[in-house]
Amino acid sequence: SIESSARRASALSPHIGYKKVLVTGGAGFVGSSVAAYLLERGDDVVIVDEMNDYYDVRIKENNLRRLREAYPDKKRLAIYRGDICDEDFMLTLFESERPQWVCHMAARAGVRPSIQDPYVYIHSNIRGTTHLMELSHKFGVKNFVFASSSSVYGGSNSTFFSEDECVDNPVSPYAATKKACELLAYTYHHLYKLNVTGLRFFTVYGPRGRPDMAPFKFIDRVSRGFELQQFGDGSSSRDYTYIDDIVDGIVRSIDRPYPYQVFNLGKGSGNSLKEFINIVEKHVGRKAIVKVLPDQPGDVPYTCADVSKAYDLLGYSATVSFDEGIRRTVQWYQEEYVKNICIEPETQANGMGRAPS
Ligand code: NAD
Repeated sequence: SIESSARRASALSPHIGYKKVLVTGGAGFVGSSVAAYLLERGDDVVIVDEMNDYYDVRIKENNLRRLREAYPDKKRLAIYRGDICDEDFMLTLFESERPQWVCHMAARAGVRPSIQDPYVYIHSNIRGTTHLMELSHKFGVKNFVFASSSSVYGGSNSTFFSEDECVDNPVSPYAATKKACELLAYTYHHLYKLNVTGLRFFTVYGPRGRPDMAPFKFIDRVSRGFELQQFGDGSSSRDYTYIDDIVDGIVRSIDRPYPYQVFNLGKGSGNSLKEFINIVEKHVGRKAIVKVLPDQPGDVPYTCADVSKAYDLLGYSATVSFDEGIRRTVQWYQEEYVKNICIEPETQANGMGRAPS
């Protein structure tokens, strides 16, 4: 029962606000990192993940293996493989596990692939999120926290993004699905008083980071002596957020239910592409081979999160500098990725990482 789990959890750790949290996408980058944090502080975690092959599934298997090794007790950590859109499967899961908190990280991520195959994004992101909110209101979930994205600001003219800006101009199917999730979240709050919070992440990086994103790609390519593609003169700048800061924001949000809220989670400052490459070179200990190409159409020169709302209402503020975050990521790449999970260099896509997702 939940009560006996709570007693067990509090015997393991001083954490008093025990929770049983369903983490969807818990084998992925952000989901597995949140799960690790929640387990460490004494919460119980139920993971559901379909283990899709959007990127090398060995990375996800490794994420789950690490969690399982650290938490062999299946009552503390339950892992289910399946699609969040599968109604029978998810109903059975809710009936047997009865999670009271939902941390919904499962989604098809990535901006550019969503243009090639929008349907899979509509399925996992819109249908999947709707289904989870249906179950959450039926099973009396206390707080539903989900991953939105900075990509919802796509068509905005500003470069310093704050939540109250009008963001009805998503410029990719991926961004449109995330905006749709925010709209549906409001509907579920309105109709059923479900507490829902959407978190707009700004380019997350760190150990176990996604191999389709620039931070991983740059470290990988510089380490292997492969060429990097730099679009523009290197002065364009983005808000890169270290995974521990994102996890901190997610957990603060889980612990602080609001009837309906949307927050930016970012570092709150940008780093230029040139700086980015220099920092990677410093920590990898190798010069990058850079091929300079013209700016890509649609690229914006500077994007940055206004995180004052998350600071005011959640007490969130990012603490890990880009330099320190890249140092830790390179360390993970060298000590864990290359030794335990390494994929063949030929399978790496060329050049620059995808746009923030
Ligand atoms: P990820 O791909 O590593 O993790 C997502 C996980 O969800 C994967 O393990 C995948 O197998 C699982 N999944 C996808 N569809 C599913 C389905 N229908 N049923 C069950 N499992 C499913 O991605 P991530 O970087 O960890 O992103 C986590 C969340 O944060 C996503 O919602 C993403 O859109 C959002 N986000 C990420 C970033 C970033 O920079 N990483 C930025 C903005 C938003």
